[in-house]
Order: sequence, then C-alpha cells, then structure tokens
Amino acid sequence: MGASRAAVDSGWIPYKNQVGLTGRSVRPKLYIAVGISGQIQHLAGMSSSGTIVAINTDKDCPLMQMANIGVVADFNEILPLITEEIKARRGTTAVAA
Ligand SMILES: Cc1cc2nc3c(=O)[nH]c(=O)nc-3n(C[C@H](O)[C@H](O)[C@H](O)COP(=O)(O)OP(=O)(O)OC[C@H]3O[C@@H](n4cnc5c(N)ncnc54)[C@H](O)[C@@H]3O)c2cc1C
Repeated sequence: MGASRAAVDSGWIPYKNQVGLTGRSVRPKLYIAVGISGQIQHLAGMSSSGTIVAINTDKDCPLMQMANIGVVADFNEILPLITEEIKARRGTTAVAA
C-alpha cells in the first residue's frame, strides 16, 4: 500500500510507503488512488502504472483527469462496498441481497 506525502506528514503511514518525487516510484498493474488529488509530485511516482483507478469526490482533480477509470464518490461509502464485493468473489463472505 502506497500513500501521498499528505498522509505521511499526517502520521497515518510510514515514509517508506510514500509514493512520488520524494518517495518511491511504483508501477503496478493496478493503481487505486483513494482520495488523492494527483499533484505533480505524486504523479511522478506512479504515472507509469497500468490501469489507474481514481476514487475522489472531486471529479475535476488532476488524478481524475489522467485515470483510466474515475469514480466520483466518497470513499467512506464506496470502499466498504468494494471490499464486500472482493470478499464475495473470493468466497470469504456472502453479500446481502
Ligand atoms: C518538493 C516537494 C516534494 C513532494 N513530494 C511528494 C511526494 O513524493 N509524494 C506526494 O504524494 N506528494 C509530494 N509532495 C506534496 C504534493 O505537492 C501534495 O501536497 C500531496 O501529494 C497531496 O496529497 P493528497 O493528494 O493526499 O492531498 P490533497 O491534495 O489534500 O488531496 C486530497 C484529495 O482527497 C479528496 N477527498 C477528500 N475527502 C474525500 C472523500 N471522503 N472521498 C473521496 N475523496 C476525498 C479531495 O477531493 C482531494 O482531491 C511534494 C511537495 C513538494 C513541494
């Protein structure tokens, strides 16, 4: 799991997880950016990723503009749904109808 400098500076995650100009460069097949605005210093570390999914309430933020898939949503609402769907497809839990 990677993070922006804002998250690192807030003490939510160690610096070794920072992606970007002054962090690490990553190139995963799938990069899911949750609540990341996409400032140039962050993009420097991840723009070569395969499929980029942006989840953000701001449809006009830079990361939304360069993402392959943009999801305009509050992550508090959508992340539990995505997590449940992944678990269901793995067969680890049932999804309520
Ligand atoms: C010299 C220098 C080097 C830097 N190096 C790096 C670096 O290596 N890596 C790096 O990441 N940054 C770096 N930065 C900092 C960079 O400029 C940005 O400040 C930082 O990337 C912003 O992080 P962020 O996207 O998490 O925060 P913000 O820019 O504050 O964006 C937060 C985003 O979250 C969205 N959001 C808020 N609430 C929700 C919600 N409930 N649901 C969905 N979306 C929501 C907002 O719409 C917004 O787009 C550097 C800056 C400088 C000056």
